[in-house]
Parts: sequence; structure tokens; C-alpha cells
Amino acid sequence: MTVTLSMAGEGNRPVTFIDLTAQFRSMSAEVMAAVEAVFTEQKFVLGEEVQAFEDEMARYCDASFAIGCNSGTDALIIALQALGIGEGDEVITTPFSFFATASSIVRAGATPVFVDIDPVTWNLDVDKIEAAVTPRTKAIIPVHLFGQCVEMEPIWRIAAQYGLSVVEDAAQAIGAEYRGRRAGVLGTVGCFSFFPTKNLGGAGDGGLMTTDDPEVAKRLKRLRVHGDVGGYEHIEVGMNSRLDALQAAVLRIKLRRLDEWSEARQRNAANYLTMFREQGVLDYLAPPTIAPERRHVFNQYCVRVKHGCRDAMLQGLRDRKIGCAVYYPKSLHQQTCFKSLGYSAGDFPESERACAEILALPSYPELPAADQVRVVEGIAEVCRELRGSQSIRRAA
Ligand SMILES: *Cc1c(COP(=O)(O)O)cnc(C)c1O
Repeated sequence: MTVTLSMAGEGNRPVTFIDLTAQFRSMSAEVMAAVEAVFTEQKFVLGEEVQAFEDEMARYCDASFAIGCNSGTDALIIALQALGIGEGDEVITTPFSFFATASSIVRAGATPVFVDIDPVTWNLDVDKIEAAVTPRTKAIIPVHLFGQCVEMEPIWRIAAQYGLSVVEDAAQAIGAEYRGRRAGVLGTVGCFSFFPTKNLGGAGDGGLMTTDDPEVAKRLKRLRVHGDVGGYEHIEVGMNSRLDALQAAVLRIKLRRLDEWSEARQRNAANYLTMFREQGVLDYLAPPTIAPERRHVFNQYCVRVKHGCRDAMLQGLRDRKIGCAVYYPKSLHQQTCFKSLGYSAGDFPESERACAEILALPSYPELPAADQVRVVEGIAEVCRELRGSQSIRRAA
């Protein structure tokens, strides 16, 4: 596709970062009929609708089992608990992720141990994992950040060598692939989120766990209902974390169109790259890298803004009413609530640098072509200003 800049010319109409109403408009009759059917049945928690969605998700990920729960956060907590991880255990993960990746480890009673990221993919630097393994290490949580899978092969090797579980944080990576296998079947348990802004978004909170291990599946199922094995017999203390039938009904309809939406996200990414080249802005922007053997599903389209200009670019785009966002402004090892872990500034330089340089641009599947053109025009304008001011500064 060639995008010409003359398509824009709509003055200062705001470009929204994400517009969920466009997707709903395209399927509102179907969704509302499914919601109405749940109300007619009055079976709101688990039940047939949830079972059907779980079966479809298992098929989608090529997993033996899929178990719905309340949120992606709960999926991570339940997964860790099901694998017997708790007090005194260490879990290795990335400091460059959404808060829940690390908080779930603390909620499970264990200690997060951070390992810095690879500056190219922003995912865990797999070459640094082994040095972080101690006798207390029980698991690794690779996060498939922004929709791109972590390089799993070295993680499998380390996990096998030291007897560790692998819990995938696949909250942003439904449908993403590594060597032709989908996120969710690349570890012991895969954890998904259906928060409305994820690639498969529900009408509220929702989550799901996948596994190929029948024993683990049994325990995941038990832990989402208070550790109940049936007949009010509780053999361990679990949670109340079930998926609502309303969510399942909505998600079943949306799942049918997920691949079409993922392809639209990939097209947006390809168009950005073409337009960045056309507009000559690559002196200021580093576009995202798609690593080999991956299917990237672009839950976020993030660029790195060079020369210390991220905040200026963010402000410049906001001044032009162009929506953009920062994921994430603060590395997890610097969060106040994790002070007791004893980390300090400079411990994970690549994660800290990403926090200072990264910028997410609009890339939802229904993003109008004219909006995307406006985003790149806005970037080109800010770049021209920056070039001017920076050369003035250099000359002074
Ligand atoms: C969204 C997200 C979660 C948490 O999912 P919720 O459903 O919001 O609880 C966990 N990890 C990552 C990387 C996420 O993006």
C-alpha cells in the first residue's frame, strides 16, 4: 500500500490513541444479542458459555487446556501458586513491563528478581538470565512485550538445567508466535488478559491460563474456586477468580475476528515504516524490530525516540492533538512499593533507557489511514523543530 500525504488535510481534527468504539460499531448487533442471551439464561458465572470460550481459546493457542479467570493479574498469581511457588522462592522476570508482572510474584508470596532487557526487542535479555539463577529460583516469567515473543530457546535450556517453571506473561501477545508456535504453549503455563485495550478485549476485566499439563490444569481450576475440589471440600486456599459468562459471550464473538485485527495491526506497522522513510524522520526515530522466527501482533506500536527527545516529541504530538502514550515511564525496580527489594537507579540501564526513550503511537486495527498520515506528518513537523533547535544549541 502506498500512502500519500495528500490524504490528510483535515486540519486539526484530534487523532485518538485508541478508539474502541470503532470496533464495537462493526459488531454491535452480534455482541448485544450474545449479551442478551446470557441475561435470558441468567447463568452469569462460569457455565457453558465460559466452557465454550475456553475450548475455543485452547484451540486458538494449540494448548491442551484453557482456564478462564478474573484478570491477567489473577492468571499470573494463580499460575505461580499452582506451580507451588511461594514464600522464600525467587522468580526471574523483566523490570520493563506492566506492574502486574512483578506484583503477581509478590502476591504469590515470592520475590521478584529482575534481569535487564535486550535493547533491540525490549524483551528479557536471555544472555543475562543464567547469572541471576540462585538455589531459591523456582521460575522465570518471560513477558512477550507489546506483542512479540521472547526468544524462548535459551529460556527452555536454563529452565531444564535448573528445574525451573516457565510462566509466560502473554497478556499483550495473544496470537503471537515463536517458531510457528503460539504464545501460551511456550512455557509451563501461559497467562492472558482480556482487559479492553488488549488485542482481544472484553467488556471489563477478564483473564485466562493455558497449559498442556493435566495435573497443573486441575490445580489451576481448583485455585480459581477457593481450592474447592467439589462438595465444599477445600484442600488448599485459592481465590474467587472466575470468568463471567457475559465476558465469555463477548469474547467468543470477538475471537473470530482476532486474526483479521492482528493483520491490520501488522499493516499499520508496515505503513509507519514506509512513511517514516518517506518523511525522513529516521534520524530521530528507531522503529520496532521484528526478531527472526516471530509473529508480532503489535498490541502496542512503540518507537524509540533518539537524542534525548522523547518528551519533546510527546509534547509536540500532544500540542497537535495527536494521541500517543508512554509504556512504561518507570522501570519496575524503581517502583516505591518494591523498595525493599534493594534495587537502585542504574541497576538495569537498558530498562531505564527504554523508559526514557520509548513512545507508543496509535495503531489499533481500525485506525483510519488519514489519522496515521497525520501522526507521521506531526512527527515530521516536530523533527524539523528539533533539528532547528538542536543545531542552534550545537552552534552556541
Ligand atoms: C495487562 C497486563 C497484565 C495484567 O492484566 P490485567 O487483565 O489487567 O490484570 C499483566 N502483564 C502485562 C504485560 C499486561 O500488559
